[in-house]
Amino acid sequence: MKIYSYSQLNTFKSCSEKYKIMYVDERKNTKEGIEAFMGKRVHDTLEWIYSQYNIKRSVPFKEIEEFYDCIWKSSWHDEIYSVRDFKTEFYYSLGKHCLANYYYKYGPEFNQSVYATELMISFKLNGFNFRGIIDRLDYDGEGNWIVHDYKAGKSTLSAPATKRDGQLALYQIAVMQKPEIKNIKSIELRWHFLQQGLERSVIHTEESLNKIKNKLKDMIHSIESAEYFEPKETMLCNWCHYWDDCSAKQTTNPVRKAL
Ligand code: SF4
Repeated sequence: MKIYSYSQLNTFKSCSEKYKIMYVDERKNTKEGIEAFMGKRVHDTLEWIYSQYNIKRSVPFKEIEEFYDCIWKSSWHDEIYSVRDFKTEFYYSLGKHCLANYYYKYGPEFNQSVYATELMISFKLNGFNFRGIIDRLDYDGEGNWIVHDYKAGKSTLSAPATKRDGQLALYQIAVMQKPEIKNIKSIELRWHFLQQGLERSVIHTEESLNKIKNKLKDMIHSIESAEYFEPKETMLCNWCHYWDDCSAKQTTNPVRKAL
C-alpha cells in the first residue's frame, strides 16, 4: 500500500528524479546534512522538555543544555556532511541558540496544555493514505487545539506563505480525522522559527483549507500520473546525497564530512 508524506510531495516538487530515487526505487542512504542533524537534536530536546520528568517543575536552562549535549554526542555518526564552510561547533551552538530563544519565551515551567508530542498520524486525503508526525499538539480542554511545528533552519515563512502552507494544513486534516479527537471548536496552526525567535499562526476557514486540499490533490495527481522523473538542478543539489544515482551528475557530491 502506497503511503504519502508531506516531505515526499515536497521532494517531488523540488526534484522529481530525487523523488524517484528515494521513494520509487527506495535507494537507501545513511548520509545526513549537519543542518538536519542539528534540527533533529533540537526537536529531541524540545520533546524531552515536555516529558513526564519535567511536568510541574521549573527546568533550569543548564539541564536543557546538558540534555542537548548528551543527545548530540550519542546521536553523532560517521555520515554527517557539511556544505557550508562552518565548523561543527557552529551548528552545535546554533541549536543551543534555538533552545535559548524558546526557553526565554516559554520556560522555565513549560506549563502549556500539551496533549501529545511527536504524535504519529495517519489519515486520508482524497482516498490516498498519508502519514506524518506532529511535533506537538496542545488542547485546552474546551475544544481548542494547537498544532505546533518547530523549525530550526535559517528560513522562515511570511504570514501569507503560512496561509498557503501544505504541511501544517495536512496535519490539521489529520487531527480532524483522528477518531479519539471528538471535541473540535478550533484548530490553530503555529510555526516556531527557533533561530529567529519568531512565531506565526494561522486559523483556516473551511474555504482556505479546501483551497490547500485542492492544491495537494493536484500534487498527488502529478506524482501518480508521472511517466518521467526529470532531474531538476538547483542550489538544493548541494544538500542532496543522491549524486551517485542522479542522471544529471557525473561525480559524487563534493560536500565535506562534518568532524
Ligand atoms: S543531485 Fe540535484 S538533480 Fe540530482 S537528484 Fe539530487 S536534487 Fe535532483
